[in-house]
Amino acid sequence: MLLLRVGGRVFPPGLGRETLATLSRMDALVDGWGREIRSLRVSVTDKCNFRCRYCMPAEGLEWLERDELLTYEEIARLVRVLAAMGVDEIRLTGGEPLVRRELPALVEQLHAIPGVRDLSLTTNGVLLDRLAGPLVEAGLTRLNVSLDSLSHVRFTEITRRDALDRVLAGLEEAERYPELRPIKVNCVAMKGFTEVEVPALAELARRKPYVVRFIEFMPLDADESWRGDAVLTGAEIRALVEERWPLEEIPAKASSTARRFRFADGASCDRIRLTADGQLRTCLFSRKEWDLKTPLRTGASDEDMAELLRFAVRHKELKHKINEPGFVRASRSMSQIGG
Ligand code: SAM
Repeated sequence: MLLLRVGGRVFPPGLGRETLATLSRMDALVDGWGREIRSLRVSVTDKCNFRCRYCMPAEGLEWLERDELLTYEEIARLVRVLAAMGVDEIRLTGGEPLVRRELPALVEQLHAIPGVRDLSLTTNGVLLDRLAGPLVEAGLTRLNVSLDSLSHVRFTEITRRDALDRVLAGLEEAERYPELRPIKVNCVAMKGFTEVEVPALAELARRKPYVVRFIEFMPLDADESWRGDAVLTGAEIRALVEERWPLEEIPAKASSTARRFRFADGASCDRIRLTADGQLRTCLFSRKEWDLKTPLRTGASDEDMAELLRFAVRHKELKHKINEPGFVRASRSMSQIGG
């Protein structure tokens, strides 16, 4: 495929002169450490239809009011500005993104934005059986499904919902669309729970076209029950898999979160996050958020927004400090930030 290079960035052919001129006018989004920001996570809702024990209390949380949520048009506008600054990878998340009505309509709007190269979704998968088709048609290219157990009893125990069969049906449905690849299955690795899941999930990865990933349990649970010793490490997981199948390490992109030790090199992070209520976070563990909703709703121009984004990103943290003394928890839990 032919690609055009404008201002150090690459765009597919077929863009009008005017679009290219606008795109090239905006400088790249670079943080104070010289890292160019290329990836954005957009939380479209804080609501979820699961109650995973490591994420949300059984009774749920205090949900945002409807008018506090960014509209699809507001999200698309921010993504347009960010794409013009070189952000080319957008992941939709939540809460549970599929509970927000007409999500394919947002995917369609984002897919149409010049510069957006990679459009993916993180979901618990329970509504995928109905929505995989419309999402692919709208332009979704990649999928992450969270799945912590392949046993009905343990799945229900961890999510507080008896929904394993529907999640597996959602995955099967997603598999029918070859345009939707890779399909990643993410499992939060918790000591005392996940050990028995490791061989079963490794076997799933051998049998199905899924990339299975084990995610470090992080101090982002609403119940604040996280302890360092509840984390099942990458080395422990690898050893459990290698009891049955030897593994080979695949070199990963420096910014990839799918390495054995997810946080071993936070310094390479090129991601920012947009919460469902329009706050920009420059790190999952930020204590500070940058309000984008107010300027969006009070007439700021695209240039004003670009300036604000640039300013916020200049203050992006070098890396998180989970394993360092004096670590302070993030101000919100995972579902409220957008996991
Ligand atoms: N509902 C969607 C899902 O289930 O994928 C998207 C949002 S969810 C908050 C995103 C991911 O964050 C899920 O894979 C979930 O398992 C993970 N997560 C939530 N709390 C976590 C924690 N304390 N530590 C590690 N991962 C966590």
